[in-house]
Amino acid sequence: MGNGLMSNRDRRECPAALRAAIRYEVKGNAAMKVLVINCGSSSLKFQLIDSGSEQCLAKGLCERIGIEGSMITYAPEGGDKEKTVTPMPDHTEAIRLVLEALTNPATGVVKSLEEIGAVGHRVVHGGEKFAESVVIDDGVLAAVEECNDLAPLHNPANLIGINACKKLMPNTPMVGVFDTAFHQTMPEEAYMYGLPYEYYQKYKIRRYGFHGTSHSYVSAKAAEVLGKKYEDLKIIVCHLGNGASVSAVKNGKCVDTSMGLTPLEGLIMGTRSGDIDPAIIEFLAHKEDRSIDEIMSVLNKKSGVLGLSGNLSSDFRDLEDGYNRGDANAVRALNTYCYRVAKYVGSYVAAMNGVDVICFTAGIGENAPLVRNFVCGYLGYLGVELDQEANHKRGEDIVITTPDSRTTVMVIPTNEELAIARETVRLVG
Ligand code: AMP
Repeated sequence: MGNGLMSNRDRRECPAALRAAIRYEVKGNAAMKVLVINCGSSSLKFQLIDSGSEQCLAKGLCERIGIEGSMITYAPEGGDKEKTVTPMPDHTEAIRLVLEALTNPATGVVKSLEEIGAVGHRVVHGGEKFAESVVIDDGVLAAVEECNDLAPLHNPANLIGINACKKLMPNTPMVGVFDTAFHQTMPEEAYMYGLPYEYYQKYKIRRYGFHGTSHSYVSAKAAEVLGKKYEDLKIIVCHLGNGASVSAVKNGKCVDTSMGLTPLEGLIMGTRSGDIDPAIIEFLAHKEDRSIDEIMSVLNKKSGVLGLSGNLSSDFRDLEDGYNRGDANAVRALNTYCYRVAKYVGSYVAAMNGVDVICFTAGIGENAPLVRNFVCGYLGYLGVELDQEANHKRGEDIVITTPDSRTTVMVIPTNEELAIARETVRLVG
């Protein structure tokens, strides 16, 4: 498995128990402060996490990198949030400002950069090359670059963030944690499309799945909260944020997920269409006299609940308000959204021949009781009985079904940054 690079064969031969054993090694590692970086093309989110207490010491965001009006938001734990508008011509400057904020004598949370033991980077696409997180070296950087074609908007930005950090913290170990890695255990029948096989051989066109760090964290946490063995459970995770995906996790391994080659497939999302008949693309291009690129932009940015609601909103707070006033646009968007989630849940019950636990997570999954209500309304065949009082609680790991419910439904707030910090310590601690 050297350096986290794993072949399909290695993956099949790495049983869940061994993967779990690898996971638990973290307990023996020394505590350290881990800087977690999530780098986009013009933005950069960061958190400094103490791996011993698992507390976030400070977090923030750099916005409009390389664009006029760039600014950094910085919030130390328990302190005031500060926003500073300052030039950030590139990501190296953004990271320099992050490090300056963290070491600032008045509001910083560390005295010097020496206190930061490692950096964990979110990397969106690891293709088939990465089934685990890895310590970043030149070979890893080259392998990530080879995946750029698969995520042209994300991977180049992730690489820029890694290189900028390496420049400013040359002696600090860096770890890459991939959105796709958790899904690499999917069997062939789940990841292949019904396309000529040569396109898989030539271009690696297949389902990869995303949000893997969240699906892995939430499913493992659900087992922990229930006091059950992860390896014994069939879990469905509904990660419902602005981007949204569902995964089927059987005996601690992902066996299917709804996003595909790109994050456009699957559920209806904030602005993304999710599954559609592929012929619609050509149909629309002709009817509207637009290029394929333009239609793809509609599918990514103007569709989902935003489009379905006649541009009312992509935000579920607005849609819930609209629903409560009986706005037909909001009703249509919410009903269609929830029906799609329920259909995916049903298909994963079939894929796993049953389900023990269904988890809701991310912005909508954690905060929208109405959505959980609607989705669970389709799950009578699983014996799901919601506890309405629990369904209206917020911000905690909680079971939202009654003790008599045949299937357990939970809300587990996701914490991708903590999961990245844990992975980082596991590899370099
Ligand atoms: P995420 O991508 O996980 O940050 O989720 C962001 C989305 O969560 C927003 O676009 C909203 O649609 C949704 N959201 C956040 N807070 C709430 C809330 N209190 N009620 C309903 N939806 C929410």
